[in-house]
Amino acid sequence: MLKSNPIESAEEVLRRYLAENQMRFTPERFAVLDAALRRKRPFSASDIWDDMSVSGYRVSRASVFQTIGLLCRCGVLAEVALGGNESRYAARREGYLYLVCTGCGRIREERDPTVALHFRGRRFEAFTPAYHSTAVFGTCSTCMRRQRREAKTSKEVKQGIRKPSEKGRSGGRSPKEDIE
Ligand SMILES: [Zn+2]
Repeated sequence: MLKSNPIESAEEVLRRYLAENQMRFTPERFAVLDAALRRKRPFSASDIWDDMSVSGYRVSRASVFQTIGLLCRCGVLAEVALGGNESRYAARREGYLYLVCTGCGRIREERDPTVALHFRGRRFEAFTPAYHSTAVFGTCSTCMRRQRREAKTSKEVKQGIRKPSEKGRSGGRSPKEDIE
């Protein structure tokens, strides 16, 4: 029964790691783990701190950052390479692709067993792999629609069908508008 609950099995891994390394079983560490596993998409350490603060848990930002590092070392979480300034994490699991929109930064997880197959048994010279994380960068459907709308508007402006002032909020701002 315990294994079927992802939160409980990750807790077991953390307990074992803390015991093996003679570290304290602080409730805070388990609260960070719980908040991390509740996230459906990759998250930053700041996201976890925000979640915990919103739910009334008083914890320092530094402590959340340290615990996230600990959860990566014990193998419950993995840092996923998604670009951007802030490190992002997800529950460590293989066979997933992260689809990252370069327009709005939205991330979608897509199950893909062929990714795991690709890395299974793959050897690297002078390197021992621990896990893999694969991201595909592109444009989400919302951003694609916005880009099409903007392209259409600017074409109409060029053709004189529409005045620049009719571009509306969603349209790009011309340098002239920025000065005003
Ligand atoms: Zn987007």
